[in-house]
This record gives sequence, structure tokens and C-alpha cells, in this order.
Amino acid sequence: MTPHNLLAAAPCLILPALTLGYLGLCVIAPFGRCRSCDGNGRKRSPLGRIRRECRNCAGTGLRLRVGRHVINHIKDEYETAKR
Ligand SMILES: [Zn+2]
Repeated sequence: MTPHNLLAAAPCLILPALTLGYLGLCVIAPFGRCRSCDGNGRKRSPLGRIRRECRNCAGTGLRLRVGRHVINHIKDEYETAKR
């Protein structure tokens, strides 16, 4: 294998590795930090200085990762098909 072939094959090897890495992360740590409140669980109200509970995460500061949504959807479809 020449260096040119290796360079041409690099994207084909890197993309599946990144995808599998992200899916592995979604299995190990399904929750990420809430983007709206940066994981605080509280958000400053638009009118004043009052900090209210974040509506996107219900005050937990966590959100389900997109990849975990996909995994859960596939699991649900599989369970439905098994019946
Ligand atoms: Zn939040």
C-alpha cells in the first residue's frame, strides 16, 4: 500500500470510526449538557433578573443526545416488530 492509497482511504476509515465512537458515547453517556441553560437548570428570564427553571430540561440541566434518540427509536421499532 502506497502512501497515496493510504491518504485516499483515510476518509473511508475516519468517518466510520467517528460514527462508532459517537454511538459508543451515546451508549455510555446518554445525556449531554442542556444547550439552553448550559447545564445549570436555571435560566434568566427575559424581562428581569429572576432565574427560572429551564423549560427545555425541566431544571435537570441534562438533555438526551441525538444519537441516543436514534438508538431508542431503533430499539422501539425492533420491539414493535418482534410482537
Ligand atoms: Zn436546561
